[in-house]
Amino acid sequence: MHKRKFTTLAFYSLALVLLLGLGLGLHQYYVYKVTREMHETTVDRNLSLMHMRADGYLERLALDAEFIAQSPILRMYLENPSAETLAGAQDALRTLALLRPSLDQLRYIDQQGMERIRVNHRGGPPQLATELQNKSDRDYVQRGLALTAGGGYFSAIDLNIEDGQIERPFRPMLRSVAKVMVNGSPAGMVVLNANADELEKRLRTVLPTAVAQPVVLNSSGGWIMGGGEKDWLFSAKPDAPDALLSTQEPALWEKIQASSSGQFEYRGECHYYAWYQFKRQQWQAPRWLVAQRSAGQACGHLTASAVKTWATQLVVMSTFTVPLLVLWLLSRWNARELRRGLRETNAQLELITSEADVALLMVDHQCRVCWINPESERLLGWKTDELVGANLHERTHMRNGEDLHSGSCPTLQALQTGQRYRNDRDRVLAKSGEILNVSMRVSPFGEGEARKAIVTIADVGDAVNREQRLTRLATTDPLTGALNRRSIMERLQDMVEHQKMPPCVLMGDIDFFKKVNDTYGHAAGDEVLKTFTNTIRQLLRKGDFLGRLGGEEFVVALENTELPNAQTMAERLRLAIANSQTPNDGGIPIAITASFGLALYSRDESVDAWLARADAALYRAKQSGRNRVEIA
Ligand code: GH3
Ligand code: MG
Ligand code: MG
Repeated sequence: MHKRKFTTLAFYSLALVLLLGLGLGLHQYYVYKVTREMHETTVDRNLSLMHMRADGYLERLALDAEFIAQSPILRMYLENPSAETLAGAQDALRTLALLRPSLDQLRYIDQQGMERIRVNHRGGPPQLATELQNKSDRDYVQRGLALTAGGGYFSAIDLNIEDGQIERPFRPMLRSVAKVMVNGSPAGMVVLNANADELEKRLRTVLPTAVAQPVVLNSSGGWIMGGGEKDWLFSAKPDAPDALLSTQEPALWEKIQASSSGQFEYRGECHYYAWYQFKRQQWQAPRWLVAQRSAGQACGHLTASAVKTWATQLVVMSTFTVPLLVLWLLSRWNARELRRGLRETNAQLELITSEADVALLMVDHQCRVCWINPESERLLGWKTDELVGANLHERTHMRNGEDLHSGSCPTLQALQTGQRYRNDRDRVLAKSGEILNVSMRVSPFGEGEARKAIVTIADVGDAVNREQRLTRLATTDPLTGALNRRSIMERLQDMVEHQKMPPCVLMGDIDFFKKVNDTYGHAAGDEVLKTFTNTIRQLLRKGDFLGRLGGEEFVVALENTELPNAQTMAERLRLAIANSQTPNDGGIPIAITASFGLALYSRDESVDAWLARADAALYRAKQSGRNRVEIA
């Protein structure tokens, strides 16, 4: 059982975690997609902006070179060289230098490669150089000479060289060269040496944060900017192993070259790149790899962080929900077990109550029946649905508007007080109208409106009948039903003790009864005794009684009766006996007479003495001829 529960718990917990994982995963995937799109858009925008910045920078340099190359003031000097026209052309270059602080040198070189005008512009104001050199051996002059009309080019960015040595700190230089034509013939070139660090500054404004940094490589894979230590290594120390990306990571470089834009990972950092080349008609320019470097972040960092967030959320959510699920399951099992226990208890209770041979009823605080057992139906005669909802007191204690109890109803009282009630000799009304002798118990429970009571009703009719029979046997004479001698003595004692008016006692004896027996037989004699008893009984008032002292000797007690009334009564009884007849098996009915002795109780006299006086009076009645009443 325990193992099964554990397996179920594990199963549900796992299912919950899987479900959570799936739900959170879907959500996280959506967030990841949006984030990624945003990131890509930002990167694209950044790269475009860098290209635009480079365009703006190069465009101006190209225009500046063209402006001087095609200026009328230079043409005037070339067409008509003189000190005056030379000064004009020199002024033009100097003016431009004043306008462009980033221009380091501005020169006009003729078709023979000879410097003809040179403005040096480093640190202070622009200076006209006096020592002009022949530069025909320089590569950039060779390329300039080869240009056609309207043509121009940008040199590769390179470090400045002073006296055959690379100048330190590095001064990256970019030359903008524009062809000079005079009257349709080539006449040399204008060469502007620009400090390339302005380009770097411009690019940096696009990515000012430390997280994303601009990177520029030349077309051979040498770092121009953004490479840290590697910047210009290709120029300053070409033999260094990491001078060129192309030699360091040839396969990667090949891939980078194959695509105009994309991303690559270098030393654990993601680079988003787009190849850049300045475009202008008849101009040539080097190709640069312009990239955005994500500092410290690999190319898969978005995916990795999405997965990490998902895992964290899953762990946190599981930590909270799994214990709740476990608690819920456990409480459900507990409840189920409790319910099963309850069902069992109910079944047992139902069996007990249905098998019980006493009526069990439950009533609410208003004595309305809520529930009964089968024995209740049998005992009271009402069906369950006739009794449930009905007022038990009105149904079983009221008959024709009268309460069976002399006082208040004990059931109602028990419900009111909460005290148990028990009576072994109670009475209830059955549906048939019969009043049943019952033993009844009322056991209240609960408080206030929730108070109820279990009413137990047991039929004790048989016991009551038995008791009554035993009492009858003990107190009466079996033949006539009159009180026996012991009862007579008790009742007389009771009478003299409790009555205000003195009672009278009448002692009677059948005349010549022996003869009746002798003539008609003993059985007929018994019948005569019965006739005698019944005749007397019919004439007695409530409170008077008849008893048989023995044989054919009887006692009649008359309560609260004065002597004259008692005498009248005695006469009436004597006459009734004399007129009575006992049927005699088809023969002539038997007639008898009886003699009586009457005695009024006198104060403080014993019952025996009182009876003795009545007996004496009876004796006198016999002596005086029988069938008469004598008074003591
Ligand atoms: P008296 O007029 O003087 O009273 O004469 P008596 O014959 O009635 O009196 P006695 O006392 O001599 O006789 C009573 C008789 O009653 C004797 C007895 O057999 C009879 N007797 C007593 N008890 C019973 C009884 O229970 N049934 C019958 N049938 N006879 C009884
Ligand atoms: Mg007699
Ligand atoms: Mg007698």
